[in-house]
This record gives sequence, C-alpha cells and structure tokens, in this order.
Amino acid sequence: MNPVTQLVIANRILAHEEVVDAYGHVSVRTEAGFLLSHSKAPSSVGAEDILEFDLSAQPKTQERRPLYLERFIHAAIYEARPDVMAVVHAHAEDVLPFTIADVALRPVIHSGAFIGAEVPLWDIAATFGERTDLLVRNMDQARDLAKSLGRNNVALMRGHGFAAAARSLIDVVRMSVYLPRNARAQRRAMQMGKLKPLSRGEIEARTSGYKPDSPETQRAWRYWAERAGCAHLLKP
Ligand SMILES: [Zn+2]
Repeated sequence: MNPVTQLVIANRILAHEEVVDAYGHVSVRTEAGFLLSHSKAPSSVGAEDILEFDLSAQPKTQERRPLYLERFIHAAIYEARPDVMAVVHAHAEDVLPFTIADVALRPVIHSGAFIGAEVPLWDIAATFGERTDLLVRNMDQARDLAKSLGRNNVALMRGHGFAAAARSLIDVVRMSVYLPRNARAQRRAMQMGKLKPLSRGEIEARTSGYKPDSPETQRAWRYWAERAGCAHLLKP
C-alpha cells in the first residue's frame, strides 16, 4: 500500500487509541529521509498533510505550513538506527509516571513484550541542564535521546513521554498502543503486590515469531482502522 496512506491510517489509529492527542507524531522512513505530517493533530491528518523530510529534519520541498517542533526526534533515530523503519513520539498519560518515578517500566503483559526487556529513561537535564522546556528542539538533543535509546525499542523521556522505534509502521503503532496498557497494568499490579515481569525467554518467544503481514497482525490493523473511522483507506 502507498506509504502516505499507511501513515494517514497510523495517525488516525494513534489518535483514536489515545496514544496521541493534539500533540505527538508518527513517521515512516523513505529512501533518503522520512515521511511525517506538518504540525497538525494526528486525528485530522490527511494525505495532503504528509511531507518528506531529510535526516536533519528539514522538509525536502519548500513548506510554509508550520512543522512539528520535535521532528528532530525522528531524524536522529533514523540516523542512528538503520534497522528502524518507523518512529512514534507521544505523551501518553499512563506512561508518564514511569518517566518520573524511580521505577523501571518492564514488559509485564504478553502484548507488552514488544517494548523489549530494557526501557531506558532519557533525562534531557542530564546533558542540557535544567533550563530546557523539556521539548526536543534540535538535532543535538535528539541525538542524545537516540543514544539513550541505543538498540532498544522504546526510550522514556523524563516528565514528557516516550519515543518508540520499530522495523515497520504497523510494529511501531502496535507497540505504541500496548505500551500505555502495559504501563497501566504494571502500575495497578504494583499496588497489589510483587511483580512478575515477562522473562527474556518469553519476550524472545513472543517477538521472534512475529510478522507484520501475518493475518493476526493485519486483523489488529483493520480493527484499529475501523475503530478510528478510516477503514475505507485500507485495501479492499
Ligand atoms: Zn513531546
């Protein structure tokens, strides 16, 4: 399917599943950069809003519409990680406590396995001091975040949100939908008693057999697209 259409669907899904609200964004890699909307709430992003950016986060064609302030996040992750094909940045509320408290976010439910065994926490103040507005406004800050992400799938951002990276658009959407649910389950479980997170073996077993084009994954994509009111954009 056309990558622009896929990205429109991804925007609508993430908005409807409340991973993003007026803020937050999703991108997909192209041969020499990435596709991302201009600055617009993901719930109303259409094909005409999608622009191509280079790996310094500049639009490839002249653009008068405002751009996302934090588009650098996408550029720096693609630059650092040739294996990454799609990126989400969001401020999902259920994830936020884990960006503040001294408690590691762990995969605790089967659908949370995709976040991986380690979820690093990036603190912008560690490198850039205590006078930033917490937003990732340039390549230096974004590269520092990408460094913290390392080879992992998700990095939490202190007092702000998360960045997720995956090998396909459907993977990153899936991970971003289940990340807040995993966080919610972990927080509730911690109120009840001791946690038993997924083991490395369970995470590997869950993720190694996963295929973005499998009927199970396509079922979820269609389900989310229908809920988001954009199933008409899917292939018949
Ligand atoms: Zn942000």
